Amino acid sequence: CGIFGVIGLTDAANFVALGLHALQHRGQEAGGIVCHAPEQGFNSARRFGYVRDNFTKQSLMETLPGPLSIGHVRYSTAGSKGPTQIRDVQPFFGEFAMGGAAIAHNGNITNANALRRELIERGSIFQSSSDSECIIHLMARSLQRTIPERMEDALRRVEGAFSVVAMTRSKLIGVRDPLGVRPLVLGQVGDGWVLSSETCALDIIGAKFVREVAPGEMVVISEQGVESQFPFRPQKPRFCIFEHVYFSRPDSIIGGRSVYETRRQIGVELAREAPVDADIVCPVPDSGTPAAIGYSQESGIPYAMGIIRNQYMGRTFIEPTEQIRNMGVRLKLNVNRALIQGKRVILVDDSVVRGTTSRKIKEMILDAGAAEVHFRIASPPTAWPCFYGVDTPQREKLLAATMSEDEMRDHLQVDSLRFVSLDGLYRAVGEASGRKADCPQYCDACFSGEYPVAPSDMIEQGFEI
Ligand code: 5GP
Ligand code: SF4
Ligand code: MG
Repeated sequence: CGIFGVIGLTDAANFVALGLHALQHRGQEAGGIVCHAPEQGFNSARRFGYVRDNFTKQSLMETLPGPLSIGHVRYSTAGSKGPTQIRDVQPFFGEFAMGGAAIAHNGNITNANALRRELIERGSIFQSSSDSECIIHLMARSLQRTIPERMEDALRRVEGAFSVVAMTRSKLIGVRDPLGVRPLVLGQVGDGWVLSSETCALDIIGAKFVREVAPGEMVVISEQGVESQFPFRPQKPRFCIFEHVYFSRPDSIIGGRSVYETRRQIGVELAREAPVDADIVCPVPDSGTPAAIGYSQESGIPYAMGIIRNQYMGRTFIEPTEQIRNMGVRLKLNVNRALIQGKRVILVDDSVVRGTTSRKIKEMILDAGAAEVHFRIASPPTAWPCFYGVDTPQREKLLAATMSEDEMRDHLQVDSLRFVSLDGLYRAVGEASGRKADCPQYCDACFSGEYPVAPSDMIEQGFEI
């Protein structure tokens, strides 16, 4: 999901809508905005679909006045499986003794089922099926005096990954879990402050990047400025390495590194680790593009746009049903026949999950008359599900969970298939010596099976790690 918040700008919701639009790649199912104005109090709107189709309408934006606003774009990973219900769309709002508060959450709470059971037993009435709603109920039960203190209280009981943007009548609040699994950055524009999942959404409103909110940090922003505190027991950070590979936008800066440059560097590593004689290097657009550029530069094999993407389709993976996903590849991607015919083609994509995309693309490329198809994948085999906010399917559906690299190659019926190594990926994100087992700096559980936080709800349901 994507989260964004603004304080201190006239009609803050307009800026939030723009920010969410720049974060649309993080969630396309639905979006919501909450705002507060001194005279009108809290207002909100939650809608299915793209930000641009909902939150640019003047009639709607006029209902969202005030200098303080937060928003969320949704990509369902927990809670309602199947179609999102409007009641699952964030931000969530709660009315407390000391006033109202709204929260928007990116990540996934790994003990949400247990918390929910306990809260319901003690009288909480849940409105949604979302894991994030637990935070509001935990806040309601806290005995602390202020809303930020109640949030701290609530979040100390929550396990897993959370980047949160929240607001009260007068404060904008940002929090990251102690491992810092999901991103969150602080920006400034004029007299206003901004919180955003990624820096690309600061650019769209002309805000300047100030710094990242640190793992385990809570920032409380008011007219008095930014206050910072560290309410959790400190732990070694474990940022999601897959944000670099796929999830974030290539024009964002994470940990002082350009996401584009990291992806290009993964392609360089891949060319060194898995060279092959071929005529052209083609990306599977858009997610494979920077790595394909890196592969081409390192190997000297010309880069070519052998697959053209229809710009008006969303990310296929994010469409929730299998059937739509199957069609999606064809709706979104088409082969550039004139370029492919008779060629030995290296196809570069960011990941293989179920293998749906790779299988369809291989068929399309062979139909167009390619002489050979070689897949190069800019991440290690995805063999484990993510429980921290990326919607990977159950383990059985992951191609790499049941097959070796060679078996996958045969299954996909391609001439060769190679994945970048975990060490290669670590080198690309800037770890000179690869993945140092003694001090890992990232979460890489979907590749390694080493989960930095035990996914306790899943373990209770019989998941074995
Ligand atoms: P598959 O078709 O193998 O199931 O999925 C792989 C494709 O899904 C890749 O092209 C990748 O760009 C895309 N993708 C979109 N969202 C995600 C995600 O959340 N995780 C992973 N691993 N791949 C994703
Ligand atoms: Fe990121 Fe993978 Fe860890 Fe999930 S399991 S947080 S996708 S690295
Ligand atoms: Mg892709």
